[in-house]
Amino acid sequence: MVTGVFICKCGGNISGTVDCEKVRDSVKREGDVKTAQVTEFLCSKPGIQLIQDSIKTHGLDRVVVACCSPHMHEEMFRGVVEEVGINKHRLVHVNLREQCSWVHERGATEKAVSLVKGGIARARTLEPLEEKVVKINRDVLVIGGGVAGITAALQLSKGGFKVSLVERRSSIGGRMAQLSKTFPTLDCSPCILSPRMAEVGNDKNITLLTGANVASVSGGPGDYHIKVRVTSRGVDIEKCLKCGRCSQVCPTEVKDEFEEGLYKRKAAYLPFPQAVPSSYAIDFEHCKRCGACVEACPVDAIDLDDQEKIVAVDAGSMIVATGFDLIGNKVLRTYHPEMSGVVNALQVERIIENELTEGKVLTRGNGDRVKSIAYVLCAGSRDSHHGVGYCSSVCCAYSVKQAILLRKFLPFLKVYIYYTDMRMTGRGFEDFYREAREKGIQFIHAKPGGVTPLEDGRFEITVEDLDTGLMLRNPVDLVVLSSAMVPSAGTSELASRLGIALGEDLFVAPKHVKLDPISTLREGVFAVGVATGTKDIHDSVVDARAAASHVYNFVGDGTIKLSPDKPIHEGGCDLCGACMDACVRGALTMGDEGPILDSVSCNGCGACIPVCPKGSLRIPNNSGDALLEEAKGLLSGTEGDIAVLGFFDDNISYTAADNAGTARLHYPTNIRIVRMPSTALLSKETILKAIGLGADGVLICEVEESHEAELAAKLVADVSESLKGFGIEPDRIRLQPMVLPIFKMLPKFISDFTEQVKKMGKMPPEKRRILLR
Ligand code: FAD
Repeated sequence: MVTGVFICKCGGNISGTVDCEKVRDSVKREGDVKTAQVTEFLCSKPGIQLIQDSIKTHGLDRVVVACCSPHMHEEMFRGVVEEVGINKHRLVHVNLREQCSWVHERGATEKAVSLVKGGIARARTLEPLEEKVVKINRDVLVIGGGVAGITAALQLSKGGFKVSLVERRSSIGGRMAQLSKTFPTLDCSPCILSPRMAEVGNDKNITLLTGANVASVSGGPGDYHIKVRVTSRGVDIEKCLKCGRCSQVCPTEVKDEFEEGLYKRKAAYLPFPQAVPSSYAIDFEHCKRCGACVEACPVDAIDLDDQEKIVAVDAGSMIVATGFDLIGNKVLRTYHPEMSGVVNALQVERIIENELTEGKVLTRGNGDRVKSIAYVLCAGSRDSHHGVGYCSSVCCAYSVKQAILLRKFLPFLKVYIYYTDMRMTGRGFEDFYREAREKGIQFIHAKPGGVTPLEDGRFEITVEDLDTGLMLRNPVDLVVLSSAMVPSAGTSELASRLGIALGEDLFVAPKHVKLDPISTLREGVFAVGVATGTKDIHDSVVDARAAASHVYNFVGDGTIKLSPDKPIHEGGCDLCGACMDACVRGALTMGDEGPILDSVSCNGCGACIPVCPKGSLRIPNNSGDALLEEAKGLLSGTEGDIAVLGFFDDNISYTAADNAGTARLHYPTNIRIVRMPSTALLSKETILKAIGLGADGVLICEVEESHEAELAAKLVADVSESLKGFGIEPDRIRLQPMVLPIFKMLPKFISDFTEQVKKMGKMPPEKRRILLR
């Protein structure tokens, strides 16, 4: 074994806190290390050249790079070593930036030394691995039929892909279909969107499933199996003539969700004139089943016994385009959203479209003409105590748009816009804002905390103008709330079905915010439009087109390489079937000589490994022995202080730790994190031995409410029991369930556990010896 170690200064990001030369000098004589070098930017051309030249000069067969998070550059460095003949799985990527220099000040160098020693020890255990090449299903599932989902579906269809588009409402179109005109050009929203919706409806490559939701997902990248629950529409879309007779005779009126509850529709209804599918539907939630529509329909298109069905869709990749809802009224109660003189901005879009463009005047509930309107921007946003902490990014622009339109139709109208900051960042937006000011729209630099209903039906707004310091009282006829945009209802359930993560703001988390914003943390699953955060139509469309090209790249030549981090069976099996029972994905079947693995369905969680009574399954390079070797290195130098060993699942918990690093949130240096595909592959023996080797506490971080977390909870209980049996404090092990949105809590979780372990003190050597026996 000949190992090379390469330490990156990252332009001061690492070397600002870590003495990289000292780290190099501390590891250069470790076991089989042949060369250890420091460089300014390891990922730059000279850095890569240094690695490749050293491999050739020193005949290296393993490489340890110590730099940023492996989630940033591991694949790139693997390619670098592979180019010069080293199996890419013999590269170890040590995280000196997100999980050391960015989260520690004092003690960062000492910790860096042990992290690199952990990497060197791990490198020693690495076997060369080959990726299995499997055929990929080229079909794509797009979830969400707003402008982002529509654009992605059409783009893919043009490239010859078959697409299934799942939309939960009875028509595609999303929010854009509800808008009147769009900023900053004021072009008619339905006029731009409808032709694309119609294209989707007519496209032979696109199968449209409306009134539909993803019920379950199985399989893996390149070969997903999705069950879609399609609710009953009650109308045969092929037969429906759109004559509207069903609606005319329907006796039941309900609030129309497309019209944001402002107007009513019948239970037999057309979602909206340009709807696709272009057909009526029965709203079974409200339908009284009187049968009048069935009798009125001239073509027998209505079936009131129509049943919900499950449709199976197979796809190699998926695109999430589920968009947004407006924040609920509960957090806006100081603005009295329940009163008829207070509306949200989507309702204004509908008022403009249905009333003002038809020449009607705007009236209040009592029939009086509306002469003054106040917009409250940031209602429920930019304040996490009263809504969400982020900016909804389009409210400034759409409020200016609506104000301009309102004044166009009603020139006498006084429009006041109360703002926190005007954010008009897009191309042409500043001119748009200027135009509004020139047209007499008044901008007041203040955010009202609430509005006061007056006896005459108006509302008083009292604020201190931040520009002039004057207290202003302003009675207005109508209040418009530019409310926060939040992820569509059901996004978190969908995310857990798809196995993708959400960010702190509960929108879908991208793989990398800057460098890979369209990919999610699950291979072959992409996310676009407002599903990944607030944005306008332009940016949603850009996302959608980018996603189509990601799918194209992902499909490539029709094959993908599967990760070799999957269990292998090495003989000695007694065919007991415990491994099959442990696998919730059904990836194992029993053959004559032992389990047979379906590598596509297997996600490499390793839950089958610790349950094997014969110990005949292992994930290469992630066996208990390999983890313990790494632990030995990581725990070196911790003799004088408490050492906490963290076992973190790679997908969520490790990413949470990276996010904490990016946010520069500090925590004690005592923790050493072992990154692993999933903590389900840990056995009790491995953990007890890790404590024997020098850990004073073990923190397992695993995805909350997952099968893996359930297994980890059992494991922790089991280990605690054994520790008790050995006369050791059972609280030296803890499970911390993780989800990405709470990554900022991770430093506290680590600090709390470290404090707890500190109270118990270092483990006495004689107790450690018992555990190593
Ligand atoms: P959406 O339009 O929200 O579409 C998402 C779709 O997914 C919906 O059809 C939804 O029903 C469906 N869906 C959700 N969850 C599921 C699920 N689990 N399964 C299946 N389907 C699901 N932008 C501009 O550029 N110009 C403007 O003038 C403008 N005006 C605006 C005015 C207002 C009042 C608001 C609130 C926003 C405005 N915007 C404007 C922003 C614009 O609406 C968004 O940028 C755009 O709608 C984003 O498209 P999308 O496809 O990502 O999401």
